[in-house]
Order: sequence, then structure tokens, then C-alpha cells
Amino acid sequence: MPDAYGQFLDATIQHLEDLKSHGVRHVAVSPETLRTLTQPPATGTPASGPARAERQKPAVPEAGAPQLVVEQATLLALPGETVPAATPLEPQAKAAAFAALRERALACVKCPHLASSRKNVAFGVGSIDAQLMFVGEAPGADEDEQGEPFVGKAGQLLTKIIQATGLSRADVYIANILKCRPDTPGQSAGNRKPTSDEMATCIPYLHEQIDLIRPKVIVTLGATAVEGLLGKTLGITKLRGTWKMYRGTPLMPTYHPAYLLRNQAMSEKRKVWEDMLAVMEKLEMPINEKQRNYFLKA
Ligand code: URA
Repeated sequence: MPDAYGQFLDATIQHLEDLKSHGVRHVAVSPETLRTLTQPPATGTPASGPARAERQKPAVPEAGAPQLVVEQATLLALPGETVPAATPLEPQAKAAAFAALRERALACVKCPHLASSRKNVAFGVGSIDAQLMFVGEAPGADEDEQGEPFVGKAGQLLTKIIQATGLSRADVYIANILKCRPDTPGQSAGNRKPTSDEMATCIPYLHEQIDLIRPKVIVTLGATAVEGLLGKTLGITKLRGTWKMYRGTPLMPTYHPAYLLRNQAMSEKRKVWEDMLAVMEKLEMPINEKQRNYFLKA
């Protein structure tokens, strides 16, 4: 019986073989996954946090298995660093890799308490070729019911914000830090913030989504979303409206639409809208006079 690391490696090779049998020749690998693959731990459990210099040894897939597409720069990247872009996948390989990632997430039981309480996994929605990606916190009751991020009241407001830029939900990609609804045992309603353990367990799925989609801009919605991608830094009030970098991709933190539902002040709506205007400028989208002036006057 192989040890835990051996089992993990066998499962990875099997997965690569499955992909290969579906015609996939390249796969994008997140730095976390690669780190786990390349660092067999002495204890027999997957490694965590090796020194950066030690991470340079590439994983060696079995002969004929799909190639792991990770440029050295990506391998060494940490959240917030600027790195050259990794090689993009061909459209067919990208779609296959994304579908395989989705399948893995839908079957995920890494958080047994969430897997047993969820109705559906809300993996993500929109175009996998989107230039603009929105990242929220976690599914709520409506999202759990429908298996799609941002479909409840906050989601409807997000849809309006997207439409105000001239785009539709189908033009962008929407995902969350957590793919399962945080459970609320003993409560019939309400939501809770994901724990750090839940975030750390689920974040590799989001990293892989971003690696495959390669958006030009990421907008994080609320404090948990920016914390999930960049780590804990300043509060959202200080962070919003200031460009950050997520591994070479410009990232704009803004308020969560649920905050705007709680606080209907025009000034707060304007702040989110100004963040969106900055995003539109970054994407070189046309902006008309009416759009420039949204939420300026009562
Ligand atoms: N809030 C989020 O952060 N994500 C959702 O999908 C819904 C509400």
C-alpha cells in the first residue's frame, strides 16, 4: 500500500492519463498544486510551505502523460507578485481542462461538513474567455439552491452593476472563494463568513480558474474575497478603489453588493461605480457621459 504521498501522486498521474485520453495535451497547474507534487514530505503527508528556492524542481509526469504547463516564473510566483504570463492553452484544451476542474470541484468532499450540508456546488458562471472576472465570498442559500454564484438579491445587484458597464453576465466570469455554502448548523437561515481553513482548502480551485481564464482584470467583492486572493492586509474601506496585483493580473477591490443593499447611500454606490469606471478604463471599454455621471446627483 503506497503512503499518502504515493497515493496522491498515483491519483494525479491517473487524472493526467484520463485527460490525455480525452485529447488534452497541456494542463495549467497552480503553484500550490505543483508545490505539493514536487515536495514529497518526510512525514508521508502532502507538504506545506517549502522554501521558495526549493520549489524550482519540476514535477516529472509519466512518459506520454500530458505536459504540466508551468513556466518557471509562474512556479515561483506568490500572490501579489508580477510575473510574465504563462503559455495560454489552445481553446479545446482550455475548455477540457476547465471542464475537468469543474468536475473535480463538483465532487469535492475536502470539507466534509460543507459537502454534507450543501445542496449544490456553485463552481462559477460566465465565459471562460472573459476579460473581466468577479470574485465573491461564498454561495448563500439561493446560490446553494441553484448551483450558481450571485443569483440572490446581492447577485441581482451585481448583475445590474455589470449591465451598467455595457456588459452582461455571459461576458464576464463570476466565482467565489468558497464553492460550497458555509453551513449554519442549528440555524434555518442566514449566512456565515468562511473560516480560514475552509478558504485555504477551497482556494486552489479559484487559482486554477484564474490560471485557465487568464482575465485582464479581477474585481474582488468585499473583504473576504480580497483576503482570499491577496492575504490579510488592510480593511476593505482602505483597500477599495486601489489597484492591486494578483500574480501579474490587475485586481480592483470593491465593496460587496450585499453592503450596498444594507447601505443605500448614494455616496457608497458612487464609490463602487468609480471602481467600475477604473476597471472599464483599464479594459479600454467605451465610457459615455451618462455612465461617467452615475450616482453623482440625487
Ligand atoms: N455573496 C457572495 O459572496 N457570493 C455569492 O455567490 C452570493 C452572495
